[in-house]
Amino acid sequence: MRIAIIGGGIAGLAAAYELEKARAAGSDVEYKLFEARERLGGSLASEIVNGAVLERGPDSFLTEKPAAAELCRELGLGAELVPSNDAARKTYIVVRNRLVPLPDGLMFLVPTKLIPTALTRLFSLSTKMRMGLELLLPPRPTNQPDESVATLVERHFGQEAVDRLADPLLSGIYGGDASQLSARTVLPGLVKMESEHGSLTRGMLAAHRQMRLKARNTQQKEKGATGSSARSAPRSIFTALRGGMQQLVDAIQARLDPAAVHLSTPVSRIEKTEDGWKIEAGGNWERYDGVIVASPAWAAGVLLGPVDQVLGEELAAIPYSSSITINLVYDEAQLGALPDGFGFLVPAKEGRTMLACTFVHRKFLGRTPTGKAVFRAFLGGMKNEALLTSTDEALVAIVRRELGEILGKEIFDRSVEPESVQVSRWRRAMAQYAVGHQERMLRIKARVAELPGLRLAGNAYDGIGIPDCIRLGRQAARDSMAKANQVSESASQLVG
Ligand SMILES: Cc1cc2nc3c(=O)[nH]c(=O)nc-3n(C[C@H](O)[C@H](O)[C@H](O)COP(=O)(O)OP(=O)(O)OC[C@H]3O[C@@H](n4cnc5c(N)ncnc54)[C@H](O)[C@@H]3O)c2cc1C
Repeated sequence: MRIAIIGGGIAGLAAAYELEKARAAGSDVEYKLFEARERLGGSLASEIVNGAVLERGPDSFLTEKPAAAELCRELGLGAELVPSNDAARKTYIVVRNRLVPLPDGLMFLVPTKLIPTALTRLFSLSTKMRMGLELLLPPRPTNQPDESVATLVERHFGQEAVDRLADPLLSGIYGGDASQLSARTVLPGLVKMESEHGSLTRGMLAAHRQMRLKARNTQQKEKGATGSSARSAPRSIFTALRGGMQQLVDAIQARLDPAAVHLSTPVSRIEKTEDGWKIEAGGNWERYDGVIVASPAWAAGVLLGPVDQVLGEELAAIPYSSSITINLVYDEAQLGALPDGFGFLVPAKEGRTMLACTFVHRKFLGRTPTGKAVFRAFLGGMKNEALLTSTDEALVAIVRRELGEILGKEIFDRSVEPESVQVSRWRRAMAQYAVGHQERMLRIKARVAELPGLRLAGNAYDGIGIPDCIRLGRQAARDSMAKANQVSESASQLVG
């Protein structure tokens, strides 16, 4: 059985790893991985500069989604996993040039603690009163049409909560826009809570109580089994790799058959044949039993349009945002006292170019040499695509000026030079789950189900983060091996 993988980002790599594992275990599977660029990893790219781990793309993954850590352990990287420094976890929102910490008790955009919410400088008195009245909202009937995250949050907590909370958080995660993103896809838990409880605060408190109860029961069971009352350590929110996300890319690449990996080889055409697929890459046509398309959906749309025009259009219609990351490494002693915490988010209403900034030296310990401060700024997003054409110098100058203004330290802008600077542009890299995404996914699944041997994987479908991309990539590979030759397949053809 021959399988082609198109795209060597983390989704395509996870698929290739799964196929390689099967091949090594004696399965008759053969695979080829085609990557348009000269390197593997897609958005994952890190470097070590003077002892500092600098991430050009993602810096970590959510610990609660197990697929990424599981893969790292399988690859022998278990000892390289590092937890985020949650003891210092604090995130600020920029409000009129000042850093205001997110109030304690905020869970997925929902305030759950009275006193911190009442005392925070993040919201005006009228928003706080609205948050109190939110407790009285009745359950919303189910089967409502999808709506934007902004509409959902506004209905419960008012426009200020959209501007100062939902929008900056989502542009920090998705490079997205709360008025475009699908509430049902991005915040399914809140949509469910609203139909069950009405008030999201009451729903969140109930969910929290249940979780605590479950944790207590588990602890009691563990205690009963071991006779010890030691509590298992709480998990960190984020997990990174000591040497950067590139370690994951390199570890997968080292497992793959080098002859199966084709870099700088974009796939230019795909054709469906009577008994399989034909793919043109690097000027050669070859036949395959199955194809895993792990390129961004816009590229998948171009390739699959000639095979199925409607599928091509649906894929091409999934919006993407672009972003820019800028790493600045400083000698901490030259900057003087800096704020604690993981970093800050900038609401669009502040009228700044920066969307967010991570204090890298605080988020993960041991990845930055002592005495160095690393700032990782994010720019771009759905609202500022044009920025991609600016020069590196212009972008760095903007970040230094805005850092100076926000942190109240002119030295960023003027007297102190960063020891190293890295600018990375990520063009159309982040899929946006727009309102109606789930309906679009059903239509895509139905079309894919008519094309035996075809699988889709990547961040456009069922999860934007690294763990979801890994899960989808591995699942696509397993499905390809299980069903490559079946003529009729279920909707699970596209994992989700
Ligand atoms: C700046 C940034 C920060 C992020 N931060 C985080 C984070 O902290 N945590 C987290 O979990 N996620 C984060 N993400 C999201 C996550 O990194 C991505 O969603 C994920 O890496 C996407 O993987 P992918 O394989 O789907 O796509 P990609 O990484 O985009 O890979 C697709 C590959 O397909 C190739 N390709 C395209 N067309 C063709 C063709 N015709 N033939 C052959 N190859 C082709 C491309 O060159 C590319 O290498 C971040 C993303 C970005 C951009």
